[in-house]
Amino acid sequence: MINFETPNSIKDMVTMVQSVAENMMRPVSRYYDDQEHEVPWDYINFMHNALKQMEGVGGPNDSSGEAPKIQYQRLAVMIEILSWGDTGLYLSTPVGLLGAAAVRATGTDEQKKRFLSRILADKPVIDAMAMTEAHAGSEMPAQTRTTAVLDGDEWVLNGEKIFVTGGHKALVDTDGFVVVWATIDPSAGRAGVRPFVVEAGTPGCKVTKLEKKLGIRASDTASIVFQDCRIPFDNILGNPEIKQKTTKGFKGAMATFDASRPFVAASALGIARAALEFLKDKLAEENIEIRYGLSRALLTNMESEIIDMEVMLRSAWLLTLKSVWMMDEGIANTTEASMAKIRAGDVVVKITQKTLELLGPLGYSKEHLPEKWFRDAKINDLYEGTGQINRLIVARRILGYSRHELS
Ligand SMILES: Cc1cc2nc3c(=O)[nH]c(=O)nc-3n(C[C@H](O)[C@H](O)[C@H](O)COP(=O)(O)OP(=O)(O)OC[C@H]3O[C@@H](n4cnc5c(N)ncnc54)[C@H](O)[C@@H]3O)c2cc1C
Repeated sequence: MINFETPNSIKDMVTMVQSVAENMMRPVSRYYDDQEHEVPWDYINFMHNALKQMEGVGGPNDSSGEAPKIQYQRLAVMIEILSWGDTGLYLSTPVGLLGAAAVRATGTDEQKKRFLSRILADKPVIDAMAMTEAHAGSEMPAQTRTTAVLDGDEWVLNGEKIFVTGGHKALVDTDGFVVVWATIDPSAGRAGVRPFVVEAGTPGCKVTKLEKKLGIRASDTASIVFQDCRIPFDNILGNPEIKQKTTKGFKGAMATFDASRPFVAASALGIARAALEFLKDKLAEENIEIRYGLSRALLTNMESEIIDMEVMLRSAWLLTLKSVWMMDEGIANTTEASMAKIRAGDVVVKITQKTLELLGPLGYSKEHLPEKWFRDAKINDLYEGTGQINRLIVARRILGYSRHELS
């Protein structure tokens, strides 16, 4: 049964996280946007200490000798609020992000314990996932050129990955790790692609570029070159029996996205809520209240638009909650994860754009944050599968088409 109430166990966390978002993130939001690549150490260190005490988000409290346990609904609520505070800073939270999702989705129990227990341990650790290559984004699986060759008891990685969120923080600023997708058999297409964990400080792995971006500027986006980069045999994620076969192929990447797309949706909706609340606050200052309950014909156009935005926001949040609830229940959520991300990616772009439109010059000015939220919004419709790619995934699953029949 889905319960739409926020559980009491989450309500306590909400108070603490809302306070961080209001008092720690919002005051420095503009600063880190302007500074782009400056590392927000105050935020990272504070969150490291705060999250270590918290249950259900991967900290040592949960481990008791096992890989840390996650309560996905709790994580989604936290991410929505942190992104309301500042989405670029949220992406710098040392809590286990996309790299950790890949380890959880594809690693063995031993690997989950080995890599995930480092998160929220003694020092802040950022993790990342490197899939995209210069010639391969949406079609990356079939066209991966980064190679992993077994040499004795080590894998040797060669190639280049681009647009790696948090790549610099994972490999240079903290003792983190990056999950790198590379092929063990270039002739096998997507079937040859496997995930490998490359840890900070590994020789032959170098961050070569930081992107200058439109939005989420507090989050670094890195290019990483692997040149004869040697990693232990056991850093290939997955069951040892399938390590050198090429049958399982790219399923692990899809499982990673099932586990990460709901959180992109949650992050998107945090930004959208920030914009909508700002808009309503400014209208309230001018004594313009939304007259809920009036018939549509009697509402002003602005009231009607704001009610539409609220409907969009709530419907997208319900889809997101369903997709994380399925994760908590251990139910396959591929369709729902993509649906949530599609809807939230659309909604955040529409709401931030409409907010700017309705605010006029106030929205366009850098004196306030709506112009920043407008810039931060679009990425949610791009990374971890664009809106178009996620629509294809949903359509294939509903209509029963294969990848070849509908591409
Ligand atoms: C800020 C930022 C952070 C990122 N972080 C990461 C990260 O941490 N790790 C990582 O691996 N990657 C990351 N990426 C890369 C991102 O996931 C890719 O940009 C995305 O998957 C799209 O790939 P592409 O850029 O090659 O676009 P393309 O695949 O070339 O697509 C271009 C356009 O064509 C559309 N398109 C493509 N194929 C189809 C189709 N079959 N039907 C309809 N439309 C189609 C796409 O939707 C898109 O609009 C990041 C990107 C950005 C901008």
